[in-house]
Amino acid sequence: MSNKQDANRQASFRPIVGIDLGTTNSAVAYIHKGKPEIVPNPSSKRIIPSVVLIDLQGQVIVGEDARAACVAMPDRTVAAVKRHIGSAERIPIAGQALLPQEISALILKELKSYVDAHFGPGEKEAVITVPAYFTDEQRRATKQAGELAGFMVERIINEPTAAALAFGLAHLEEDRHVLVYDLGGGTFDVSVVEMMSGLLEVKTSNGNSQLGGEDFDWKIVDWLADQMIAEYDVDPRQDLRAKALLKDAAEKAKITLSAEETALISLPLVTVQDDRPLGIETELTRSQFVALIEPFLSETMTCLRNVLQDAGLQAGDIGEILLVGGSTRIPRVRELIRQYLGREPRTDIHPEEAVALGAAVQAGLKSGALSDSGLVATDVAPFSMGIAVLTHWKNRSVRPGSFHIIIPRNTTIPVTRSDSFYTTADYQTSASIEIYQGEHEWVKHNHRLGEFLLEGIPANEAGAEEIEVTYRYNLNGILEVTAQCVSTGKAMTVTVQDALNRESQEAFAASASRLEALFNQSAENESEPDSDDAEDEWEIDGVLAGTEEEDAETDWPTVLHSEAAALLTRAQNLLSDLAPNDRTLLQKTIDSLQAAIQGEDIDRLRELIDQATDTLIDLEV
Ligand code: ADP
Ligand code: MG
Repeated sequence: MSNKQDANRQASFRPIVGIDLGTTNSAVAYIHKGKPEIVPNPSSKRIIPSVVLIDLQGQVIVGEDARAACVAMPDRTVAAVKRHIGSAERIPIAGQALLPQEISALILKELKSYVDAHFGPGEKEAVITVPAYFTDEQRRATKQAGELAGFMVERIINEPTAAALAFGLAHLEEDRHVLVYDLGGGTFDVSVVEMMSGLLEVKTSNGNSQLGGEDFDWKIVDWLADQMIAEYDVDPRQDLRAKALLKDAAEKAKITLSAEETALISLPLVTVQDDRPLGIETELTRSQFVALIEPFLSETMTCLRNVLQDAGLQAGDIGEILLVGGSTRIPRVRELIRQYLGREPRTDIHPEEAVALGAAVQAGLKSGALSDSGLVATDVAPFSMGIAVLTHWKNRSVRPGSFHIIIPRNTTIPVTRSDSFYTTADYQTSASIEIYQGEHEWVKHNHRLGEFLLEGIPANEAGAEEIEVTYRYNLNGILEVTAQCVSTGKAMTVTVQDALNRESQEAFAASASRLEALFNQSAENESEPDSDDAEDEWEIDGVLAGTEEEDAETDWPTVLHSEAAALLTRAQNLLSDLAPNDRTLLQKTIDSLQAAIQGEDIDRLRELIDQATDTLIDLEV
C-alpha cells in the first residue's frame, strides 16, 4: 500500500467504540493496532458494575462506588436495570422516577467519559450489544439509552455474535461450528456460529432474556429468608435494606461456591424487630446451591438442544465452545455443557470481556480499522415474527388470534418478507395489523410488538381485497412493518416505526431534559429548585430538596444499624486473614460494636462505627 493510501486510510478512520451494556457489568472497547482492546476507567478498571447511585448531594455516581452503596442506600441506587429496559415502568431512585433507558444512559455516559478521556472530547459512535433474545422494544430502548448518553449509535448487535466475532478475528483460518453459551447476570443466550475462512455466519440463536445469575442470587435470598422466617417468624425481604444485604451476601456465597465446596453466610444483623437485631449464620454447600438453581440450568440446556436441532447439527459437530458471562464460572454449568457436548470449552475466553471486545470488532469492521482482516459476519433473527389472523379452527368455527409467521426464526438478517392477506368481512374498509413475535401458533402466547390500522380499503365483498404486509428486519434487529392495499396500489402504507417514532421523539426529548436536569441539579445542589421546574410532572423535587428532607425523614437508628451490620460483615470476613495480634484487636472491635448494636445509646453506636471504620481501613491494607 502506498503512503498516500495510508494517509487516506488515516483520514477516513473514525474511532467507533464497542460497548457491552450488561445487567451486572459494563465495558467499552476499541480497535488498537488491529486488535480489540478495553478502554479502562481512570482507576484502571476494565469493567464497571452497571449500578447507578444518586447520592445525598444529588451527584450521579456510576460503577464500583455505586455498587458499594447498594446496601447502605438501597433507595438511592439502581442495579440490574437492564432487566426492565424496554418497559415503560419507572424506576424509583432518590425520590425520582426514571425510565429504564434513562438509568442505562447514565451508565453509558460514564463509559463515554472514559472514551472521551482516551480519544479527546467530541462526537463518538458506538456499537452497543444486546442479548440475542431481546425484543424490539428492548433494542429500541437500548439504542435510545446510547443516544441519550451522547453517542451516535452505529449498530445494535447480539451479544453471543459479538463474542464469536472476538474469537473469529483471532482464528480467521479455522473452519468449524462454534457454540456460544452466554449466561450473565440477567440474560441467557446460546448461538451456533459457523466459521468458514473468515466468514462468520450465525446459524441459530435461542435463549431467555430473563434468566441469569441474578435469579440464582434471589434463590439464595429466598433460602436464607425461609430460615429466618422459621427462626424468628419475620420475613427479612420486607425490609429494603435487609433485602439488599441478603442479596449481597447471596451473591458472595454463590461466587465462593464456584471455588469452594461450602460457603459460610454470617450476617449478625439483617433486620431489626422490636429493637431486637435479627441475624443469620448458616452454611450453604455447593450441592445445595446446585439443587436451588437446577431448574434454571435445565432450561439453558433445553435451549442448547433446540439451537443445535434448529441448526441441523449433532453435539459432536460442535468444534469449539465459548463460555461467556460471569455465571459460566459456576462449575455445574461447565459440567453440564461438557457432558452434553462431549468436549472441553475453551479456557482462553474472558467471560466478562469477550462481548465488549467483540462489539469493538464490529465497530472496527464498520470504521475501516479492520477492513483488511477478511472477517465478514452475518447474523439471524432469533425469533419468528408475524401477524394475528383469523383461522378456521378444527374446520368448524373461525377463530381470531392465530399467529401467521412472516419472518421465520433463524432467518439471516437483514431480511424483507411479504405476505398477502384478504378482507374477512363484507364491506370492510379497514384492517387491524397486529404484530407479534414468538413461536406459538396462537398470538396470545407470543410477544406483542404493536398494532396499527390500515384504513381506506375500498368497500367490497369479503375476501375481495388483498392486503400485502411487508416485514423488514434490519441489522439492528429492529422491525418495520408496512401494509398496503393492493387494489388501489396507492401510497397506503403505514410503517409502524414511523408511528412509534413520532411518539418516541417526544419521549426522547423529555428523557433528555430529565437527564440534563439531573446533572444540573447535582452541579447546583446548593440552590433551590426554580418554580418552573416544580410544575413539570417529571421534575420531582426529590434530589434538590432531598438533602434536607432526607435528613429529617431518615430513620437514623436503622441507617446506623445497617451501617454497623455492613462493618461487622466486613470485619468478620477479614478475621481469618489476620495475624494473631491484629485478630485480637479486631475481635475486640467486633465485640464492642455488637454490644452497641444491641444497646440503646445511638451516640455510642455512632462512635463505635467510626472507630471500627478506622480499624478496618488500617487492617485491610
Ligand atoms: P452481565 O452480562 O449480566 O453484565 P456478567 O457477564 O458480568 O454479567 O456476569 C455477571 C454475573 O456473573 C453475576 O450474576 C455474578 O454474580 C456472576 N458471577 C461472577 N463471577 C462468578 C463466579 N465466580 N461464580 C458464579 N457466578 C459468578
Ligand atoms: Mg453479558
